[in-house]
Amino acid sequence: DLWEFDPAPETADPKLKARYDLFIGGKFVAPAAGKYFDSINPANEQKLAEIAQASATDVDAAYAAAKKAFETTWGKMPGRERAKYIFRIARLLQDRAREFAVAETMDGGKPIKESRDFDVPMAAAHFFYHAGWADKLDYVAPGRRIAPLGVVGQVIPWNFPLLMLAWKLAPALAMGNCIVIKPAESTSITALKLAEIFQDAGLPPGVVNVVTGFGETGAAVMNHPTAAKVAFTGSTEVGKIIMRSLAGTDKKMTMELGGKAANVVFDDAPINQAVEGVVNGIFFNQGHVCCAGSRLLVHEPVADEFLAKLKTRIRVLRVGDPLDKNTDVGAINSREQLKKIEMLVAAGVKEGAEIYQPPGRLPTKGFYFKPTVFSGVSMSHRIAREEIFGPVLSVLTFRTLEEAVEKANNTAYGLSAGVWTDKGSRILKMSTELKAGVVWANTYNKFDPASPFGGYKESGFGREGGRQGLLDYCKLI
Ligand code: NAD
Repeated sequence: DLWEFDPAPETADPKLKARYDLFIGGKFVAPAAGKYFDSINPANEQKLAEIAQASATDVDAAYAAAKKAFETTWGKMPGRERAKYIFRIARLLQDRAREFAVAETMDGGKPIKESRDFDVPMAAAHFFYHAGWADKLDYVAPGRRIAPLGVVGQVIPWNFPLLMLAWKLAPALAMGNCIVIKPAESTSITALKLAEIFQDAGLPPGVVNVVTGFGETGAAVMNHPTAAKVAFTGSTEVGKIIMRSLAGTDKKMTMELGGKAANVVFDDAPINQAVEGVVNGIFFNQGHVCCAGSRLLVHEPVADEFLAKLKTRIRVLRVGDPLDKNTDVGAINSREQLKKIEMLVAAGVKEGAEIYQPPGRLPTKGFYFKPTVFSGVSMSHRIAREEIFGPVLSVLTFRTLEEAVEKANNTAYGLSAGVWTDKGSRILKMSTELKAGVVWANTYNKFDPASPFGGYKESGFGREGGRQGLLDYCKLI
């Protein structure tokens, strides 16, 4: 069963290799320049494995393999055949779910209960869902003949390494494309473990190629002349660099970028449920979430009560060893990210917002940060405007629905938002007024492969998931 997991996945062997090579043309190959870098476990700062650093030569080889696969196998295969492979990938991932959950947690620092109950099953669900589309192209675009784009280049971030990989690969494969993908440098391991599954599934060589490395490798993937389309998930800053570098080319492009979502709580909201939703919205995955509800907008009549309940709730969040299944908030993904969070929190204090952090000690080894709530925040504060990408919530208040809409939309981003109220009319009004790709009502962080996800404004363009996501991976003839 897709949703059934071992109650003690933390005891599973993550089956890590000491060294991970590139995955090109269906084989693991050493990088041309022979360079490797260390992947660190952020929970204890120990080295997990060595990862190959791909150069432009390796990226060329990956594109050549993808082009060959597109021309000789995958691009010619009927959809029902492609579906079999994608189903097989989903099943094999389910079979190794415990192992993948532990590897994901060790590599990225997220709590095991999240990798076990969210990342791995959602990744499998994504392959299952898209396998179902591979032989139903007539429903993707009714009345139109559709064709794959060819070879696509993809670059992803470190916050949901396996899930972002599935979001990128599954629709591209279903529509008949071949792929060169680069995971983030701090979290490459589950991508390379998935490559083992591609081999076991008998996926024709070159259909998916995984090249690992830093930003330079990412730039080589995005700028390669063979790529008919590029898809990027990451920061708005890097997204803009890529858009500039591709200006004037004929490549199709989709961008999934940053966010600064508002979670809006009205005075008639079921208050305890809203507290849970706000906590989940910002502390899930240490707040390393593009759609994190990082700004709480709370209705003035209930603001004091809400804040008091929120602080009480945060006091019992368990921060620590990500492999402990009782942990709620795991490790910050890297030292650099921890520094960035510390810098923005210091800016919040300096600008005069009131900081609250629960008592208790953090582990001395590894990268950790306490769940943090800032109250008395104003729209001009950096912590109200900039994406912190950590467990830090900025609390603002509002008096009227119009003021809530104005404040929620007063951001460069527009990826997601949440609304908590008992009134259907408020939900309807807010969901049309909020300039965000997703608006959740009386819930937060709900995902489904059938439901398209993507941004407005500087949060990017294009959608992932659902029928709409498929249209970004095919051409209509
Ligand atoms: P990042 O932009 O620093 O890096 C993302 C990826 O791009 C990494 O693989 C990196 O190696 C690569 N990269 C870096 N420089 C590059 C360049 N010049 N050309 C090509 N590739 C390059 O982002 P990050 O810190 O890894 O991830 C966090 C960001 O991702 C946050 O802003 C978050 O909001 C965003 N994100 C968005 C979504 C979404 O769906 N909108 C989902 C997850 C994360």
